[in-house]
Order: sequence, then C-alpha cells, then structure tokens
Amino acid sequence: MNTRPIPWDYMIQTMREALAGQELPSVSLISRVNNDPFAILVSTMISLRTKDQVTLEAFNRLYEKAHSPMELARLNADTIEKLIFPAGFYKTKARNLKKSAHIIISRFSGNVPNKIDDLLSLPGVGRKTANLVLSLGFNIPAICVDTHVHRISNRLGWVKTKSPEETELALLKILPKKYWIEINEILVKYGQALCRPNSPWCSRCPVAGSCPKTGVIKQR
Ligand code: SF4
Repeated sequence: MNTRPIPWDYMIQTMREALAGQELPSVSLISRVNNDPFAILVSTMISLRTKDQVTLEAFNRLYEKAHSPMELARLNADTIEKLIFPAGFYKTKARNLKKSAHIIISRFSGNVPNKIDDLLSLPGVGRKTANLVLSLGFNIPAICVDTHVHRISNRLGWVKTKSPEETELALLKILPKKYWIEINEILVKYGQALCRPNSPWCSRCPVAGSCPKTGVIKQR
C-alpha cells in the first residue's frame, strides 16, 4: 500500500470537479428524489448486475405500486417479477424483495432497520446494499464498496486488497469520515466516465499525477 500521506481533500475535490455534469448513478438519483430508506433498499436490490436506466425504470414501476414494506408484502412474487423485469436475476430479486418485506414487518415493526447486522439478515442484502441503505437512506457514515470503488481504490494505491470486503475495511481505516458517504457516488461516476474497467482514460484523468495505476495493463 502507498505509505505516503494521501492528499484526500485535493483528490476528492479534483474528482468532483472532473465529474461536474456527469449523470448520477441510479440509486443516488433515487435518493435525491425520495427521502426514504425503503426506496434505497428496494432500488439497490434491483440494481445489482443491472444497468442504471433499467434499474431506474424498474424501481419506478415497483415503487408506484408499493411505497412501503406492507404494500410490497401484499404483492405476489409474479407481479413483482413483471414490474422489475428486465432487471438481472429478476425472479430471484422478486422473491428476495417479498421475503425482505415480510421480515421487515415481522421483526422491525415495518421500518427498514438502520443497523448493519439487521440489514444483512435480509435475503439478497449484502454489505454493498446494507452500506448504501445506511449512507443514502439514513445519512449514517458508511462506505459502500462496489466493483468501481474496489477497482479504483486499488489503482490509485489507496489500498492493496483482493475483494470489496477487504477494501471496505481498509478504507474505513484511512479515508476521512467526512467522505464515507460520498466516496461511492464519486468513484462510481469516475469509473463510468474515466477510470473504466478495461482501458482507463489516464490521458484525460486529472489525478493521473498522483496515481500509480496499479494493475493497469492497457490505458488510453
Ligand atoms: S490515472 Fe488512470 S488508473 Fe489512475 S485514476 Fe486516473 S484513469 Fe484511473
């Protein structure tokens, strides 16, 4: 891992400026419109392995019919499937959404829980989803590490890790808390616009001078 101090304020500010005008990831957009942890939970569950535009449309169709765990639990799984199709793994997601709604009603009085272990007890909810619900749904500092956050944090030399779970633990130790909520949105957008998975746009990247490009084989 990079042992030099990381100039966090400079890095984050420079990335923010480079991303001005860039579209928000679907769940971030949903969080701006709906101040509702249930909306964040449902949209994040739909978003796994699904394109942003598909997530947005699938979420809107489902949320129109089910604004709460009670309303979601009343829908049958076939209806949920149809509403969220063509999201990836829509059949499994429909079942998990319905089961989660029942658990939220029976164990958490109908309210989406705001503790990570409680969120992780819901079917289909992993650390990525749980942390996004905490951060965007409840404004609780938490770091949501998805494939973009994991890849870019390693390329930049912030961490040296093999899995998103390891990256989360490493970032919790070094990233200033004021950036925990925001880092996911910044790096998702950065990964879509510049630090692309297969051939990053290093020639256009404003933080290239501070980036060791760890693991980058091909760049533009
Ligand atoms: S220099 Fe290249 S590898 Fe490093 S953050 Fe920028 S785009 Fe990604």
